[in-house]
Amino acid sequence: MTNCSECDADLSVPNDAIEGEIVTCAECGASFELVKAPNGFELKPAQTVGEDWGQ
Ligand SMILES: [Zn+2]
Repeated sequence: MTNCSECDADLSVPNDAIEGEIVTCAECGASFELVKAPNGFELKPAQTVGEDWGQ
């Protein structure tokens, strides 16, 4: 379990999460990209708000 760096809410990372997956905070809507770390995953802020996501 990790915490949102924006609002400190609990963020659950799925057990089968993969590197590069985007998780979104249910509390504040911030998006984070999963980056592999020695003991699991780290969350890197993802700049997705207001951007064209390739659709
Ligand atoms: Zn949050």
